[in-house]
Amino acid sequence: MCGKCPDIDNLPTHLYIDNEWQEGSGSVIDCKNPKDGSDIVKFKGASEADVDKAVDISRKAFETGPWATFTGDQRGQCLNKFAQLLEDHASEFAYLESVCSGRPLGQCTYEVPLVAKAYRYYAGWADKIRGDSYPPEDGFYKIVRQEPLGVCAGITAWNGSLHFMAWKSAPALACGNTVILKPSEKSPLGTLCAGYLIKEAGFPPGVFQILPGNGEVGAILSSHMKIDKISFTGSTFTGRKIQDAATKSNLKRVTLELGGKSPAIVFDDADMQKAVFWCTVGIATNAGQVCAATTRLFVQDTIADEFLGKLTAGLEAIGKGIGADPQNMATTYGPLVDKIQYDKVRAYIEDGKKSTKVIAGGEEYTKGGYFCSPTVFMNPPDDAKIWREEIFGPVLCVRTFKTEEEALELANDTVYGLAGAVYTQDINRALRVPMGGFGSSGTGRELGEYALRHYTETKTIWIK
Ligand code: NAD
Repeated sequence: MCGKCPDIDNLPTHLYIDNEWQEGSGSVIDCKNPKDGSDIVKFKGASEADVDKAVDISRKAFETGPWATFTGDQRGQCLNKFAQLLEDHASEFAYLESVCSGRPLGQCTYEVPLVAKAYRYYAGWADKIRGDSYPPEDGFYKIVRQEPLGVCAGITAWNGSLHFMAWKSAPALACGNTVILKPSEKSPLGTLCAGYLIKEAGFPPGVFQILPGNGEVGAILSSHMKIDKISFTGSTFTGRKIQDAATKSNLKRVTLELGGKSPAIVFDDADMQKAVFWCTVGIATNAGQVCAATTRLFVQDTIADEFLGKLTAGLEAIGKGIGADPQNMATTYGPLVDKIQYDKVRAYIEDGKKSTKVIAGGEEYTKGGYFCSPTVFMNPPDDAKIWREEIFGPVLCVRTFKTEEEALELANDTVYGLAGAVYTQDINRALRVPMGGFGSSGTGRELGEYALRHYTETKTIWIK
């Protein structure tokens, strides 16, 4: 692989097409470090012509290239080798992820082996994509096959780029598809670095390509007539556009992993220490820039004072330490990803202050960089924006409740349905409380065996 990263003068700044690096001819991507707004690198992303070229190459690789005749075992070997190479170069990947996104280096370092694990998991599936058969009771013997879809594009968010790269490309490749990935323009370098490994892992030309670019490139992919599938991770706002573009073009299949406003319910029988710890992790990890972050907290009134006292003390302590260098391995709390996100989160906080009491954080950080301390609002009104909308920052809204029914009604009163948490010692209650994966948070599932079905089409062959 590069052997040069993370040398700042030799960052991966090209498109990865047909197993070669090629200069982009589209709009400029301007990578900055959110810890101080400093420039990292500027380079040209993909243009429409670049996308067309990559799609044609991808289709050819799918239909007539060596990949078309690879056995499941051979595909698995490529995925396993790729996983090994990722681990061998974990420090470069972690650095490139951290420097663009502001995510703490320690967290990004922890992430790389998990990304490798996802590739290994799907490597194991590559030779187990099986079908069914049905007896000829009606005179026809039926064979049901799971066939790859063709050219699959992945469009990803910046806040876990390497995870999303794996969650999209690994099952798609295991099933025999070809893949084009478009990482977020906010943090493209880690994903692009994977381009150094693709050929070495044994993927034939055109099988696994990477096209950095901004939203325009995502829109071109979504409406492309020769792409068979889009898998998207990002905001609900963009997800709607992608679904629409897919419908209006060739009705390509779409998987959407979108936004959230996830609740946590803390009952008075909960283990207080664990609940405080996980609610802190829920809002402070990645400065709240996590799709499944706990952003609405419901605490039973009988324990509210004690619980909130402990929670806010911990979050205030995190707030006092902000500004630490995210590229230092010891740092655990970084900045927001860019000025746009910073301004957006600050606007929500200022708007929230008009209607709602702040019980932790809330103040602006003025020493440079896009840092924001964890902020907790108590009892926002029903129609407050901070209560209804996804903020994607370290902003937590709290309400108290008296009964389980009341807690459930409040928790479910959202258009989102991405995730949820319940803290109780009562296993019956824990199982009663539903959570996860509904509403405007998307369609389809990633990871596990379930994801494989999003990358194959069922074909039935009748034999007389
Ligand atoms: P975003 O929607 O702004 O961008 C995501 C990607 O979409 C980027 O690559 C961007 O270039 C591309 N894009 C922008 N406009 C497009 C268009 N018109 N057509 C096609 N692609 C387009 O989201 P973001 O700010 O990068 O990420 C934050 C959002 O992602 C939050 O809402 C968060 O909840 C969500 N998210 C969801 C999950 C999940 O698994 N459900 C995981 C992480 C993030």
